Amino acid sequence: MNSIIQFEQIRHVYQPGLFRRPVTALDRLDLTVERGEVYGFLGANGAGKTTTFKLLLGLLRPTSGRGSLFGLPLGAREARRRLGFVPELPSYYPHLTPLELLRLARSLSGIASDERADTAVLAGLGLEAQLRRPLRRLSKGQVQRLGLAQALVHEPELLILDEPMSGLDPIGRALVKDRIRKEKEKGTTILLASHVLADVEVVADRVGFLSKGRIAVEGKPAELLARSVLEVVIEGEGHLPLDFAQQLPAALSVRTRWERREACFVVRLERPGSAEVDLCLRRLIAVGVRVRSVETRREDLETLFLDRLGSDRADDGGDAPRHVEEKRSA
Ligand code: ATP
Repeated sequence: MNSIIQFEQIRHVYQPGLFRRPVTALDRLDLTVERGEVYGFLGANGAGKTTTFKLLLGLLRPTSGRGSLFGLPLGAREARRRLGFVPELPSYYPHLTPLELLRLARSLSGIASDERADTAVLAGLGLEAQLRRPLRRLSKGQVQRLGLAQALVHEPELLILDEPMSGLDPIGRALVKDRIRKEKEKGTTILLASHVLADVEVVADRVGFLSKGRIAVEGKPAELLARSVLEVVIEGEGHLPLDFAQQLPAALSVRTRWERREACFVVRLERPGSAEVDLCLRRLIAVGVRVRSVETRREDLETLFLDRLGSDRADDGGDAPRHVEEKRSA
């Protein structure tokens, strides 16, 4: 059994009140996260990420569908022991210090105090100067990093991180990414939610875009990035044979535009695949010109997937029931 998280056709419908219409937050969600995998869970506000986490944490029960965590039914206590969770906005007792909070987290997990290990984890997250400072005197970003430290004390097999970098400065983001990478190297399975692909693409093995309560697009970040190429611009020096520009578009299946500037030229390939770029470069080199630069212009991935999948913003419809589009490839 290598799947840590397995959701099959999970639906979750909120019933906000007697006279309000139900809200379908998850609509036949299929999601599998394998052991040791880092899964980037992307989606707009209201797409259903938090609902998914609440189901995994046993705070909600699915309306229908089947789900398991570590092979156990959703909500099983044993499964909860084996995971660490960091909410988007962690909130702790303000009079505690970071070291005291980690000691408390250890005792709640039934493990012995280890101030040296806690100090090392906190220092790794840039909190060495705040070890003994009450949390009310810590900044929002510092508390957010502390949230990750407290989720790690019992060495969980699965880490669920809700927007772990959203409020952080560039140094804080780098520290958190580094920690996530270290956990990945240790073999920890990680479910990492974000609105921003850039935050997850460097660490995620797979990425899923949640849209209207189900995974609309899923794949490896590199594959998804390849789909986002708008244009490849090749700049070079040297004189091209006169008929070269006419011949090349025929050999390529994509639209090509040329500009000549004295002894320089620019070729623009519209939405090419790597084979087309490769062919163009080989032809250029074969006629003896020098390629100076190859630049790839990409569409922002969130725009590409979320906007193309239609209006994904579930928070714009009040409490009206939400309708789900059929899964389709982008
Ligand atoms: P965000 O990125 O803003 O945190 P999300 O992807 O986590 O969004 P959810 O919080 O899971 O989204 O919400 C999914 C849908 O369920 C939204 O339409 C939301 O309005 C609705 N919803 C969430 N909680 C409740 C609730 N307690 N009662 C009624 N509807 C709810």
